[in-house]
Formats: sequence, C-alpha cells, structure tokens
Amino acid sequence: MSRYRLTPTRTQEAILREHCADARYVWNLAVEQQSWWHRGRKPAPGWVMQCRQLTEARSEFEWLRAGSTIIQQQALRDFAEAMKCFCAGTHRKPTWRKAGHNEGFRVAGVPHWDVRRLSRKVGEVKIPKVGWVRFRWSRAISGAKSYRITLDRAGRWHVAFAVWPAPTVAGPGTGEVVGIDRGVSVSLALSNGETRQAPAPSPRARRLHRRLSRAKRGSSRRGRAKVRLARVLARDSDRRKDWAEKASTDIARRFDVIRIEDLRVANMTRSVKGTVEKPGKNVRQKAGLNRSILRSGWGLFARRLEDKAPGRVEKISPAYTSQRCSACGHVDGRSRESQASFRCTACTFTANADVNAAINIAAGHAVTARGGSGTLSRPVNREPLASAA
Ligand SMILES: [Zn+2]
Repeated sequence: MSRYRLTPTRTQEAILREHCADARYVWNLAVEQQSWWHRGRKPAPGWVMQCRQLTEARSEFEWLRAGSTIIQQQALRDFAEAMKCFCAGTHRKPTWRKAGHNEGFRVAGVPHWDVRRLSRKVGEVKIPKVGWVRFRWSRAISGAKSYRITLDRAGRWHVAFAVWPAPTVAGPGTGEVVGIDRGVSVSLALSNGETRQAPAPSPRARRLHRRLSRAKRGSSRRGRAKVRLARVLARDSDRRKDWAEKASTDIARRFDVIRIEDLRVANMTRSVKGTVEKPGKNVRQKAGLNRSILRSGWGLFARRLEDKAPGRVEKISPAYTSQRCSACGHVDGRSRESQASFRCTACTFTANADVNAAINIAAGHAVTARGGSGTLSRPVNREPLASAA
C-alpha cells in the first residue's frame, strides 16, 4: 500500500465529497442489514442481492442516482470482503462509518480507472465522474489493482494504491511437508534440495549507492544521486515483488505444510547460524545494501506465503538449524564448513548448507501456530553438549 497526496481542484473536490458520502451511505446500509441478520429476523442478503437493492434504491433516490454506480457497488463489494474476513476470524466486524471520520471510497477494475505520470513530481489518477485528478508523485507505482481515496481530518486528500489481495492457493492435499531456509548465498533453500535466487540488486543500484556514500552531505550532487538511486531501487523492488509472488504461489500449490523460520527469533540467533560470522568475500563487499534487500525480500515472500496458504505455514525456531546434521542429528558449529557447504563432523554427511538447514526446519515443531502465543518453546533441535559460545 503506497499513499500519495491528492491535489484536487475545488470543483473536483465537491464531487469527491459526494463520492465519499455515497460510499458511506451504501456501506452503512449493508451494516444495518447485517445487524438484522444477527438478530435473526431474516437472512442477510449476499452481494448480488444487495446490488439489486442498490439499483432499487437508486431509482428511488435522485441523489443516489446522481452518484457513481461503480463507487457504490464497490462499497458493497468491500463490505462483503470485510464480512468474509470477519467470518474467517482475521479481522474485526465491519462497523458504521461516520461522516467526517471515515471519509473515503475505493475504485477497482481496470476499465474504471487509470493512472499516468505528468512530470517528475506530478501524476494523475482517473476517478469516475471526476476525471483526471492530480497527485504528488512521490515514488513509483507498480502492480496496483485498485486505489482508495481518503480525506483525513485535516482536510487533506490522499490516494492509496493497493495490490489486489492474492486469492488463497490450494495445496496438493497429499500432506506433503516442506522446510524453507533463507540464506545469504541462496535466497531460498527447500528441504527437497531445490534452491531459488531472488533477483539481486542491479549493478546500477550498487554504483549509485557507492556514489551517494561518497558525496558530500547537502551537496547538489548528493541530491541528484539520491533521486536516481530511489528510482533504480524502486524498479529493483518491483522485480523482487514479482519474484516473491511467483515463488510463494508455486510453493503454496506444491506443498500442504510449509515450515519456515520464525523471523523474530531468527534475528536474535543470526550469529549462531554462522552466516554473519563467516560471510564469503563477495558477501561482505556488498553486504550493506544486499543484506537489507534480501531481508525485505524474505519478509515479503513469507507474508505472501501466509496470505496464500493461511493456516498451512508453520513457524519454527531457527536455533541450531544450520549447525545440526540433518542426517544424524549431531550438532556442531564446525560442520558448517563455509557459507555454502555443510559437512558433518560426526558422520561426514555433506550437503548445501542452506538445504541442510531447510531439512531441519521441515522436521521442526511449530513455535507458534498461526502466530498464536508468543512464547518460545525449547529449541527444536538438540542443544550442543559443549557450549557453542
Ligand atoms: Zn551427521
């Protein structure tokens, strides 16, 4: 979700306010119907039925008819979506929207809207019945499937572009379990031996990053480099988003249970994993930019995975997953020969270090089921007899 400041003209603003009022009216109508249902008077109408009622209401009220059907129907669709989330237990129950508090409306569907860039700092978004409205183009827009216009209490208008929530993906139904480890040398390692590489930052981004760190603070050179870097990073980020979408869909489809590290724990145990202690030469060189990017890429991937496979993603304590031999269970930091390779000091089992960790993750027990309790259970794997430190 990325938000931009919208700068409508006076005339445009008047229509936008009407759109807000319409959307709120329709939304509240749906809330009211839902409340009848809960008191058991009559079944709450579904979205199709509500649309029919909307058509009736439009023929009855001139002011409603004057508004945009697209926006009014979207409000109903949003309500139906909010109810679905409420029923699934992931969100609170949709409630009344108050004038002056929740002013806004949403537009989705490509034929109804469009966005274009006018200059470096100005963009335009097409809004039903309003036409092109300008906004401050503060960063790149990509993959937007809908937008929401809001008016805050300070009287400022914003437009927020949203990526359409991914539909959930069905697993194969075979009970297949996979463990996934994130690595520095390999972005994703699967317990079945597969590895996947997220797109690396472009060389141009690295060059600009270097130039920026050398340029004097406050200099115009630095300013220019900053803008250029921001643009390149935005493009890189689009490529990684695309990668995360594809990878998460593929994995959600092929496996029923997907085990990943619990990130909150992972940050604390990073040094135990040995990835920081023994970075390869190249890794250290581009560490700053690369590491933060890889981390954000992993975060995005994990989030999308949970969106697409709700209830099928289990989080595992990452403690000792990279030091433990997935063949014999022996735990020894020295088994991790390098960034990339694992060689058990007890049984001489050898494997890609990230894949070995992924196998341990696959065998792990959930630390938190669906992000439930925050307490950590004992580490999944046996602790080494001698202290690792
Ligand atoms: Zn072993």
